[in-house]
Amino acid sequence: MKCHRCGSDNVRKMVDSPVGDAWEVYVCEKCCYSWRSTENPVVMEKFKLDDNKIANMGVIPPIPPLKK
Ligand SMILES: [Zn+2]
Repeated sequence: MKCHRCGSDNVRKMVDSPVGDAWEVYVCEKCCYSWRSTENPVVMEKFKLDDNKIANMGVIPPIPPLKK
């Protein structure tokens, strides 16, 4: 199985459905994308990730301290 977002095959099963054998959740070890086995996610091209995009991701701006 490959990740729908980055194409990595480093995917592991995260959890099974708590009741019955309804679904499993899989997670990509590389980009943390996760999905349920009952979904067939389609990631739009502009949201796909590769090594270059991951390496150049911006840092989330820090939240400034609250004013007193
Ligand atoms: Zn991925």
